Amino acid sequence: MNWPGYIKPEEDEIFTSWFYRLSKEHRIKSHTFSKFFFDGLPIWNRDIDQYCPEIIKRKIYEHTPLSKDRIENLFLSSFDGIVFNDVISTKSLLSIGINHRKRRKFGLLYCIGCLEKEVKFFKKSWRLTSSLVCLECSLKLLDSCPHCNSPIAFHRLENGIKGKIPENDLNSCYKCLRDITKTDKIYADDDSIKYQKYINNTIDFGFNDLTQYSFTFFSVLHELEHKLYSRSKKWNKFRIEVEKYRSISMLNKNLNRIKSREESLLITYELLESWPQKFINFLSGRKLTYSDFSKDFRDIPPFWFSNVLKFNI
Ligand SMILES: [Zn+2]
Ligand SMILES: [Zn+2]
Repeated sequence: MNWPGYIKPEEDEIFTSWFYRLSKEHRIKSHTFSKFFFDGLPIWNRDIDQYCPEIIKRKIYEHTPLSKDRIENLFLSSFDGIVFNDVISTKSLLSIGINHRKRRKFGLLYCIGCLEKEVKFFKKSWRLTSSLVCLECSLKLLDSCPHCNSPIAFHRLENGIKGKIPENDLNSCYKCLRDITKTDKIYADDDSIKYQKYINNTIDFGFNDLTQYSFTFFSVLHELEHKLYSRSKKWNKFRIEVEKYRSISMLNKNLNRIKSREESLLITYELLESWPQKFINFLSGRKLTYSDFSKDFRDIPPFWFSNVLKFNI
């Protein structure tokens, strides 16, 4: 039997967003919803969008008209084999920094334009490290409340209203309760739009001009990006060379905030663009070694990347 207040998930909606709206539609808190319908399994003290117990998926299947594929598609694991091939150690997903019910990190992004629409919901792609821009609205994504700078943690809108039904829509900040869309819109520039189109196409197709396996592209993109923040005395050469190459400084930049990532992702993307010529130009005359690149890869760097390294350093 279908749940009485069933509402369908929106396209690309992430599980927790739908679950919040679904509970609200049933006029109960999500905790109570879980007690009734998910055998009381805790939801908010884990990254359930990333790791969801099978029993929850089964209950959804039994009580909604959704197909198994559609249910799988609510979770970040649906990016497996495309954006990453190892959900545990991937740098492709943003960490939300779970501490009980709290969120310490700014790992859930949003688009003002999307959250202004009538049905307000969060998208799966707003957990991807590579997301900078909403191409639908041409707006830059944000990673915190513009009024009080708190991370986005909409489940906490249910806090402190004992017995009461949550009333807030998903455009409210849990902390200051103000509308997170009520701030100046920042339109994306041409470079960021070009970058995001490339990223989204890579995800849609599962491959790009560099590789048949898109997850290897994302692994190189994020490994290189991470190196731009390296404070290691031994392994900071790539950062130093890029700083010289682009006349920038990565000091005081924070990989955990979208503002910094906007810079580091665009720089990294530019190095990989028109592969491999731009990268070869960058390598030429620089004292970089194979291990400056290979050391952080979980296994070995993908062939398309390591091959260019081997012949050019
Ligand atoms: Zn949007
Ligand atoms: Zn706020």
